[in-house]
Amino acid sequence: MLLPSAKSMPDLIGNTPLLHLKQVSELTGCTILGKAEFLNPGGSVKDRTALGIIRDAEKKGTLKPGGTIVEGTAGNTGIGLTLIANALGYRSVVVMPHSQSREKIELLDLYGADLRLVTATSYSDPNHYIHTARRLAESLNETEPNGAIWARQFDNVANCDIHETTTGQEIWEQTGGSIDGFICAVGTGGTLAGVSRALKAHKPDVTIGIADPMGSSLYNYFTNGELRGEGRSIAEGIGISLVTDNLRRASVDEAFEISDAEALPYIFDILRHEGLCLGGSSAINIAGAVRLARKLGPGHTIVTILCDYGDRYKSKLFNPVFLENMGLPAPDWTRN
Ligand code: PMP
Repeated sequence: MLLPSAKSMPDLIGNTPLLHLKQVSELTGCTILGKAEFLNPGGSVKDRTALGIIRDAEKKGTLKPGGTIVEGTAGNTGIGLTLIANALGYRSVVVMPHSQSREKIELLDLYGADLRLVTATSYSDPNHYIHTARRLAESLNETEPNGAIWARQFDNVANCDIHETTTGQEIWEQTGGSIDGFICAVGTGGTLAGVSRALKAHKPDVTIGIADPMGSSLYNYFTNGELRGEGRSIAEGIGISLVTDNLRRASVDEAFEISDAEALPYIFDILRHEGLCLGGSSAINIAGAVRLARKLGPGHTIVTILCDYGDRYKSKLFNPVFLENMGLPAPDWTRN
């Protein structure tokens, strides 16, 4: 068979394999599959969002040749935007809370983003990274010779659209329609909304779940309508107290609140016994898939997202001192 070839880097985004997750499948009696989004060229599921937003802005004419793309991000969307901008002749300006992992900050620097680190504050604070990105895009649009756009991943539904036409459609085709449930956590809600729309269009009774980390408000929102959360999670890129325009497009049947203590052992076990070093949001997603599997019962097929790779969080997720400071159990092997 002839291997497919790509004309340029954006052609490498998407068409990721579905990986059989052995231990959690055995544990639940279900088939639990993870979409290997860490294989995207920027290393995360957010490459799709970055490409979807750029292609949409090009089509609408708001992003001009040589233009600047500004975004507020936990890091991965910034990484995707920066690499695609490099490939297509744009410039990227990335606003990010400095609380995010050192590794993601170093990657953004390496890839050539114009990086603006800001204090981590609540959304109601005008200095929150999302508001800072909006203001910066407005002012750069006045001064940059080719203009600037704000990518606006939280409310820009080009995000949901790309997941509907690619991620969701791929999952449907890869499972041959033999899928009973899909579950993932929410950052912008683009993945959950897009995949849920694609799957429900093919199979209206597929069960869609949200796996919500502690400190996020969405478990309560989908359970009792209250946008309220307690606790905290070390998983980056997920957990919000907003109902974004992307999330509004999702149809959610089941909501689960997942603690880090419940989720992290799954990625520790997967690293040591299945050979993949996954990130924190993948841990929440896999724990969510286990909960959904228990709800549906043995024999079902459940898909989740393996969002990014764990080496991007080495100094946190696999650092016993950091874990212990957070009150989380660290496996003995992290001390070697
Ligand atoms: N996992 C990681 C590591 C992420 O960076 C993000 C996006 N911020 C997500 C999950 C959530 O994806 P979405 O924005 O589509 O909800």
